[in-house]
Amino acid sequence: MPRYLVEAELESPVVLRRERQSQRSEGIDYVPGTQVRGAFARIYLWRKGEADTAFQRIFGEGGQCRFGPLDPGNEYFPKTAYSCKRVPGFATEGEEKSGGHGVVDLLPVIVRWSLTGQPPAPVRCQVCDHDLKPLSGSYFRQADGTCRDLRHRWRRLAMAHVGIERISGTAAESIFFHLPAMEPNPESPEGSATTALYGWIDTEPEIIELLQDLLREEGGILRIGHARTRGYGRVRLRIHKEMQEESPDWEEWNRKFGEFLGGLLDPQRDFLFTLEFPCGAILVDDLLRYTVDPSWMVPWLPRLGLQSPARSPRQISRVEFASGEILSVAAVTQHERVRGWNFAHGLPRADEWTVCRGAVYVYLYRGDNHGREQLKEQLRTLERTGVGIRRGEGFGAVVINNPFHLQFGVPAVSEPEILP
Ligand SMILES: [Zn+2]
Repeated sequence: MPRYLVEAELESPVVLRRERQSQRSEGIDYVPGTQVRGAFARIYLWRKGEADTAFQRIFGEGGQCRFGPLDPGNEYFPKTAYSCKRVPGFATEGEEKSGGHGVVDLLPVIVRWSLTGQPPAPVRCQVCDHDLKPLSGSYFRQADGTCRDLRHRWRRLAMAHVGIERISGTAAESIFFHLPAMEPNPESPEGSATTALYGWIDTEPEIIELLQDLLREEGGILRIGHARTRGYGRVRLRIHKEMQEESPDWEEWNRKFGEFLGGLLDPQRDFLFTLEFPCGAILVDDLLRYTVDPSWMVPWLPRLGLQSPARSPRQISRVEFASGEILSVAAVTQHERVRGWNFAHGLPRADEWTVCRGAVYVYLYRGDNHGREQLKEQLRTLERTGVGIRRGEGFGAVVINNPFHLQFGVPAVSEPEILP
């Protein structure tokens, strides 16, 4: 399915909660794909009056449309991204004040540790020698490939409200609550042009036209999130033209990443690849239990196996593939709970456990060229279809060999060495 990029401007703050109970709910810093899809489904039903076959095609489970989340940036940090604990953020040239001490990607260090069993020397900030801490959330990648933080562009608010008496329509006694909201930071140093939210829709051209028509009828406005009757969540949405993606060079990625590992792998025989879920994923095993292991849903991948640093390289889990084998090298992942509300039933939805956004899995193929080409075909299919359940809400979108690891990777050894 072609991908269409989506850009949104907030006309009022958006209220989003992790938990259903408003008293103990923490805000989140992006609009989940579930909310984007729900907003489109509401205007569809409002305009057309019924859930016809076209509705099922767009919004049904296993339908032909996938709605990604709306993020303050156009890229999401992988779980292997770190920055200085004291002055985090991308190093920017020239602007000493706004820049951080730089971003590093520890994936090469983790991969080498896993393959050799030798614990790495700790990596510290290159500028001030302090500890590193993990980065999460989204960032902005510009057309020239340089990256920017979003720390000062958005702010979270706690909006205080009183409850409304259902019968009289006036303020109700002793009901007071707050709503976590997000909005562009008015004190942001940059202009307002940078306060957009970025997302995507994967679907066929005729469905995009249908969604465009719906948006036009609504004056370009979607209503997203909680407390919409209180005026929150007015979002002006634009769907861009179909994205032209050039096919990435995975051989080049494999060769360059191999250089970070210091001659540990033979690029002729070894093909290292990463599988990432920038929007999270919902994976289940054969008994429908939640899992963080993609191999339950992608049968040709090896199980994660033991991921403890104390594991010896001999214990790496592997599976035969074509005439060679695939090894499960490393995984940086965790579970997160999503809660939801089923509007059709008017009941809370059962909690689900997702693989967190930015989860990174590393595998190594070892074998001949024929198997290697077969593997690349499988990887292209994964990128096209995604993995897991609730893919219509953006879960399970797959990125193979994220260029982030080449741009920010720290060499796992200071000088090249050849292992026996
Ligand atoms: Zn530092």
